[in-house]
Amino acid sequence: MKDFFERKLSYKYFVLLLFIPLGYSSAAQLLYPIADEFHFPVGKNGIATPARDGDGWYDAQPFLVNNHLGEDWNAETGGNSDCGAEVYAASSGICLFSADIEGGWGNVLIIRHLLPNGDWVETLYAHLEDRLKESGDIVGARELLGHIGDGAPPCGNSAPYYAHLHFELRNENCAYFGKVGNGYSEEHKGWLNPTTFIVARRKGKVGR
Ligand SMILES: [Zn+2]
Repeated sequence: MKDFFERKLSYKYFVLLLFIPLGYSSAAQLLYPIADEFHFPVGKNGIATPARDGDGWYDAQPFLVNNHLGEDWNAETGGNSDCGAEVYAASSGICLFSADIEGGWGNVLIIRHLLPNGDWVETLYAHLEDRLKESGDIVGARELLGHIGDGAPPCGNSAPYYAHLHFELRNENCAYFGKVGNGYSEEHKGWLNPTTFIVARRKGKVGR
């Protein structure tokens, strides 16, 4: 009988522990890494800028040009020369999505970030050669996430475009928050300009 009560008691505590993170977002937020700095997702030394200005990297298709919902980061050396280059987490957070969804997307990662003011945003990294994080992994700012590709290795075999990083930044108003989406749309509510957002929150080396 004593055993029975002990087991029943521990079961209650188990249920309570499950409901703390689900029921009280403030409790969940205590456990979540705070994204208090953001960086561009490419470039080893942290000085990349979206301009084609000699720092090795540029944004070939800026946010909302052609209804593009993100930025296309490419090496300044062109073609598939950036195939295999490192892709870094724009900030700390938790990996929400990690899968090869094939089609035009290939390997995709989504990292969810908690800002110091309590708002949530997420960054999406697409066409990767590989994925080094799985859903649920805690990720640090500028931690290695994978490598640039064109959806599936080897570059040049699978996609009608050169290897590059398709990079999006969304907030909770985005209809595809937590999901991959379409990459292009006339409806862009909830998608943020990644460069504007990052430049406002960058720390350390700020490039030229
Ligand atoms: Zn793109």
